[in-house]
Amino acid sequence: MESLKELYRVGPGPSSSHTLAIKRICQYYLERFGKDAPYDVTLYGSLALTGKGHMTDKIVLETLGENDTNIRFSTVWDEHPNTIKIVSAHHELTFFSVGGGAFTIKGEPSIVDRYVYPENSMTQIEQYCADHNMNLYQYVETREPGIHEYLRGILKTMFKTVEAGIDKEGILPGKLQLPRVAKTLYRQALDERDPKIKKDLMITAFAYACSEENASGGIVTTAPTLGSCGVLPSVLYYFRYIEGVSEKKLTEALAVGGLYGNVIKTNATISGAEGGCQAEIGTACAMAAAAISWVRKLPIHQISYAAEIAIEHNLGLTCDPVGGYVMIPCIERNGVAALRAFDASLFADHLGRIRPNRVSFDQVVQTMKYTGKKIARELRETSLGGLAGEIKI
Ligand code: SF4
Repeated sequence: MESLKELYRVGPGPSSSHTLAIKRICQYYLERFGKDAPYDVTLYGSLALTGKGHMTDKIVLETLGENDTNIRFSTVWDEHPNTIKIVSAHHELTFFSVGGGAFTIKGEPSIVDRYVYPENSMTQIEQYCADHNMNLYQYVETREPGIHEYLRGILKTMFKTVEAGIDKEGILPGKLQLPRVAKTLYRQALDERDPKIKKDLMITAFAYACSEENASGGIVTTAPTLGSCGVLPSVLYYFRYIEGVSEKKLTEALAVGGLYGNVIKTNATISGAEGGCQAEIGTACAMAAAAISWVRKLPIHQISYAAEIAIEHNLGLTCDPVGGYVMIPCIERNGVAALRAFDASLFADHLGRIRPNRVSFDQVVQTMKYTGKKIARELRETSLGGLAGEIKI
């Protein structure tokens, strides 16, 4: 598996596959060939169908140069749902945006040279930990010495995003004219007397804060994607500033949650265009469930149980963003998934004491992959069906 550095990336919202990866692709093209204008850029599939709402065209023009670039939108479905072709004066390349800000180049070997984990499944990782008598964080440190500093930086960025979003009011950019609500939700949480409702409202407010920052093009972290960027940070922020959990423990939780995201990325997909929202929000929920379970000091089999529950009950979740904006259902869905992650950890803790889980994490990942292929194209980040078909703007 790749480094966790390839999973957690920082960049501008609203979409890791439609803006962050596209920015990286255009920068890569410029670095590789130098200035080679004019640029003829074609966006295919999901990139074409939701490109305007996701600001894909804007990021292409900003990076390659507005005066040098012509963009075409093609609804032809290339071999990958997120395909972008760049033709310049002397060169031509086709790229696939594969989720979480990552990309590959058609006909070329992977440009990632950081395959630092020999283990590629949770079964293998659990076995390695059992054989070497280590926990999941020790395993990450063994495979990626020095990763702690990188993750500390990621944690700080996540917290900055929550704090930026929790303080803002106004309307999110775009035709939906959706008001920001994180600040009001947070005030409601502060006024609430029931401790359970207070906690849930706090976590929801933190998730909304991140997702609203994402929707407005703010700086966010892929966890594992930008559409799902509010789930894990809201949980970690809650632990740090409401429950007083140490930064060190939460950095470890980020590593442990990242392992589960990495296994999904390696064996299935974290792209909504490939596997529906189960691949984005489902994965984020699993990562958060694992992180929560780590903070709660659950043993490895129960951490995996929690992550498995989180995926199992997001199976089949479709991606149908209204108007192509990463707002409805995305923002609310981040809040829902953050709360669900706590439930998954609670279930794993208590069920795990009664009987072993009959569904392994690796099995549910394979099921997610299978289910993603069965989800209709209209419901995989094309905005052609589902909520997007129902709610016209
Ligand atoms: S519905 Fe889910 S997968 Fe689709 S854009 Fe929104 S968060 Fe991403």
